[in-house]
Amino acid sequence: MKQDQKGHSHLPNNNMPETRVFRQGAVASEANALPNEPASEIAGNMTRRSAALITCLAPLLPTIGLARSIKHSAPATHHPTTASHSLHAPTVLRNAAAPPPLVMLDPGHGGKDPGAVGYSGTYEKHVAEAAAAELERQLIASGRYRVSMTRTSDRFIPLEGRVEMAQAHRAELFISMHADALHDASVRGASVYTLSNAASDSQTALIAQSENSADLFGGPHVHASSPEVQQILASLVSEETRRGSAHIASSVVASFQSRLTLLSHPHRHAAFVVLKAADIPSILVEMGFMSNRRDEESLRQAGHRAMVAGAMLDAIDRYFSSTRTGAG
Ligand SMILES: [Zn+2]
Repeated sequence: MKQDQKGHSHLPNNNMPETRVFRQGAVASEANALPNEPASEIAGNMTRRSAALITCLAPLLPTIGLARSIKHSAPATHHPTTASHSLHAPTVLRNAAAPPPLVMLDPGHGGKDPGAVGYSGTYEKHVAEAAAAELERQLIASGRYRVSMTRTSDRFIPLEGRVEMAQAHRAELFISMHADALHDASVRGASVYTLSNAASDSQTALIAQSENSADLFGGPHVHASSPEVQQILASLVSEETRRGSAHIASSVVASFQSRLTLLSHPHRHAAFVVLKAADIPSILVEMGFMSNRRDEESLRQAGHRAMVAGAMLDAIDRYFSSTRTGAG
């Protein structure tokens, strides 16, 4: 972890790491001065190119990206105990109690990709990172999970790279954390997304477009793949993974229900590239929308993020207690 142990629990007024892109000491007032110009350029690019991009990326599965060497530095995996643990346990240990499940947390965006820019200028990438760090802390503290993070600092990782990390770590659950923006600033509330070839609604289709276009920041990639290969890869998205994803999604929605404002029909689906791990139940959680003043304000508060993380921990507990024996 980049952050020191307690630094994250009480971030300064702006509640975001105060270094990096901030132009000046931001305060939690209505309009803290964060750089907007680059983001609007980015938004322009997205609008122009996202339509083409979604067609290009949506059918692809992460396995295609495996041809590229996995250059992303290995994410830190945190284990609840100090006992040395190996993912490649010798056969003789097979009958021993299963290790705690590994949950892969994926703070959205990072580095040159700021994600959405909030009503008063907050960057989504900072909110995502702070929220994931808090959830990581709570998961570890429970003693019931191992946790890996796709990133623990402000750096860019291509979407496929995120999925590759989850697969390389044999994660049992993949949770991508976001706080995107919508055109309609009045829309607020949390929502949970699972993978589907067809979007559940137009709003979700737009969110998926925006998320998938994160790879624009990574420069040109080769996504060429024959239709046959694509079909084979697509078939790898097993029914079981779909069921697992739906299960954790509804569990998170149920946890949020009593504690958070929710978007209408809070469980939605679309072709999110980052959710395309064939064998790992995956969800994308929009903790709120940066385009909404109240959501942004809430997400800037460490206390609010701790509450969101607590709800997610409960949901993860329920998920594993019903899918896996000996998780606790
Ligand atoms: Zn996002």
